[in-house]
Amino acid sequence: MDKNKSNSNITPPTEDPSELYPQVPGIDYKDFQLSPDGLSSEKRKSALDKLKEYENKQKIHFLGYQANQKLDYENELKEYLNFHINNIGDPFKSGNFTLNSKFAERAVLDYFASLWNAQWPHQDKPSRDGDDWQNSYWGYILSMGSTEGNINALWNSRDYLGGKFILVDAEAGEVAKEASINGRSVKAQKSLNYYQVQAPKENPNAYTPIAFYSQDTHYSIVKAMRVLNYSTFNEIGSGKFECPLKFPKDYPKGFSEQYLDKYNWPLEVPSNEDGSIFIPALAKLVDFFTTMGYPVHVNFNYGTTFKGAYDDVKEAVKQLVPVLEKNNMYERTIEYSKGKFDTRTGFWFHVDGALGAAYMPFLEMALKENKLQMDSNYRFPIFDFRIKEIHSISMSGHKFIGAPWPCGIYMTKVKYQLQPPDDPMYIGSPDTTFAGSRNGFSALILWDYLSKNSHKNLVDKVVKLNTLASYVDHALHKLQEKIDTELWIERSPLALTIRFKQANPDIIFKYSLSGEELYVNGHKRLYSHIYIMEHVTKELIDELMLDLSKKNAFPAQEDEEENSIKYISTDAKKIIHIPHTGRGFK
Ligand SMILES: *Cc1c(COP(=O)(O)O)cnc(C)c1O
Repeated sequence: MDKNKSNSNITPPTEDPSELYPQVPGIDYKDFQLSPDGLSSEKRKSALDKLKEYENKQKIHFLGYQANQKLDYENELKEYLNFHINNIGDPFKSGNFTLNSKFAERAVLDYFASLWNAQWPHQDKPSRDGDDWQNSYWGYILSMGSTEGNINALWNSRDYLGGKFILVDAEAGEVAKEASINGRSVKAQKSLNYYQVQAPKENPNAYTPIAFYSQDTHYSIVKAMRVLNYSTFNEIGSGKFECPLKFPKDYPKGFSEQYLDKYNWPLEVPSNEDGSIFIPALAKLVDFFTTMGYPVHVNFNYGTTFKGAYDDVKEAVKQLVPVLEKNNMYERTIEYSKGKFDTRTGFWFHVDGALGAAYMPFLEMALKENKLQMDSNYRFPIFDFRIKEIHSISMSGHKFIGAPWPCGIYMTKVKYQLQPPDDPMYIGSPDTTFAGSRNGFSALILWDYLSKNSHKNLVDKVVKLNTLASYVDHALHKLQEKIDTELWIERSPLALTIRFKQANPDIIFKYSLSGEELYVNGHKRLYSHIYIMEHVTKELIDELMLDLSKKNAFPAQEDEEENSIKYISTDAKKIIHIPHTGRGFK
């Protein structure tokens, strides 16, 4: 923008932004800077050429994130770029925004309900006597990725466990009628009213849910906790009670004391070395807090962001159920209005399946069909609605499947939506989607993909990805031997990611490698990882290996804290710890 040209309606820049903003190899910010006059067609063309060149180049070498770049939507779907398709509101209600794709959305949701062993189709009322409609699933396609699904799960769980319920304002019509008597038109605004059950005197904690998630959890969960003002077990317990976990006996092998706070409480539930949640510690913590009457939200990870580990959800649930039963939290009755009762669980189990929920069902099929071999003592970690205690699952659509933009699925059961389910007269329309306007194109993307790929196809794809992941593991070990440098190579069981010592910045940029800082036995280490998604080829891996075999591919690391000035507040209560490393997806 020309500094000297005066236009009283807009501000001129105070500095040249192209000098302040990050330098991007191959891109000159000046080519993209917009002006009040738009850009000339030559300038536009030149910018678009650079854009194409840049994105293509980065796409070809893309290895660091779990985002499939092999997309094939252009032919059949490109015309819909000139439609605004909006699935606003509940996917199972038509609504008046008829330019929507909710019919395709419902088909995609049914597909995943079936794949995740939920009861389908969705029903919001009985269709015949004795119908178990409340056990049917409910869900929607997310406009964001799993971040939105995780927020939605925590929001739902906070209110469900927190003893909130919804009633329709049945008197709205009467009130409006009265108010209109002087001749004004008044809207009969039927509202959904949230009510809050009071905690009984003998248990003041009864409606204060607290959350448990492992140290390998994606930061979207932590962010959601802040947004929703949800407490973690650490916030409630640390500094007030003695931690029920004793170091090191109650911690997994290799756990670093750096992860304990000054009161010897872990900030998050400890993870095993492979990144999966350490079940004995989880069970102890849940026991400790449910004994005090707190309802609990447990977040499981199915494909952790950095290590790609799958929590053994089935086993964890098996160990938690007796604890919940013992402490009267497996099921409880809430009197939401005089003489009116709702039966609810005192826990919420959410599965963050951003990556894994999309393909692990196919991997399970592959194992059953002997298309993939594991040790004889390997037990497939079941995570879905076959476990009847699971409340919700979220999944990202742009990771394994691949989509041009973030999208995903949130799924729960009708009975966990916020409504007194035993009292049809009281029911308002269910508390539904987090977003208002919702991306209706995403439903078409997912529908397109699923209609083009049979289960058999997807099983074969997953087997191929696993084979390539083993190849990478092998190639890295060969490289380690060749360059005679310890590379800390690791792959969690059946993970589509392999982690190793952090590479130099040029390699990181070329392959878009995400990084992570981990403590191992008290030592800080910087890691890179790569993800094997459908677009990754053996040739690309070989090119990476070649780059990694060059001199200075692995810069020396210092096992020390950086020399930054740290401010530690002594008098303020720390309410939450927000990991500012990306845990792999930043
Ligand atoms: C990627 C990821 C998320 C966040 O998903 P987005 O689609 O980026 O919003 C959440 N949890 C896990 C485990 C992830 O890997």
